[in-house]
Amino acid sequence: MLTRDDILAWLKCYRQALGENKDYLTRLDSAIGDADHGANMDRGFAAVLDKLPSVADKDAGTILKTAGMTLVSTVGGAGGPLYGTLFMRAGAALDGKMQFTGQDLLAALEAGLAGVQQRGKATTGDKTMVDALTPGCKALRQALESGADLDQALAAAAAAAEQGMTDTIPMLATKGRASYLGERSIGHQDPGATSSALLFRCAADSLGQSHNP
Ligand code: ADP
Ligand code: MG
Repeated sequence: MLTRDDILAWLKCYRQALGENKDYLTRLDSAIGDADHGANMDRGFAAVLDKLPSVADKDAGTILKTAGMTLVSTVGGAGGPLYGTLFMRAGAALDGKMQFTGQDLLAALEAGLAGVQQRGKATTGDKTMVDALTPGCKALRQALESGADLDQALAAAAAAAEQGMTDTIPMLATKGRASYLGERSIGHQDPGATSSALLFRCAADSLGQSHNP
């Protein structure tokens, strides 16, 4: 079983990963956007971390919903509200749960992805965060369905999300700010797909450990 403490560890891992990759994300966004994705995510998750003490004893769903609402209220642009939606939907799927299974986590991530797609209208191939989230969720589902341990399943999901991230390089952007560049968006890795791959990597690092017999 996973617990709400694991969710706290995941968010803390992600906050640290965003801090470490802030300049990298900004560099990617300077090539095909407005050079703020690193700063946006860093600021948003600094605010999320500031909120965590107030929900430390709450259920996994409440923690994730609080993270999502904090992102919506602290980050402008496209990325903030989309990540806010992801975390709010994931939180709704884990509503009231102090403990949950790998299947529950999968359902939460899939709900988050569905929310991102509903809000942003992007599908795979549009060169967005959806291109990392979709293969990440798919690989997690496949691994869990084939009976893999949670740590193996999350490692497979993180690898698939990273593959999805690099697969955005040759894509033509058709959503968001990068789409304004048209053909010139080709040849650059999408910043949002990169931050989404980091989210899966943190899931593997912080949720995949010590939950197997
Ligand atoms: P902004 O584009 O407003 O400056 P950010 O730089 O924080 O916001 O985030 C940019 C990222 O948001 C892109 O790299 C892309 O992955 C993601 N994105 C933009 N528009 C959409 C959309 N409609 N659907 C999904 N993701 C999107
Ligand atoms: Mg930007």
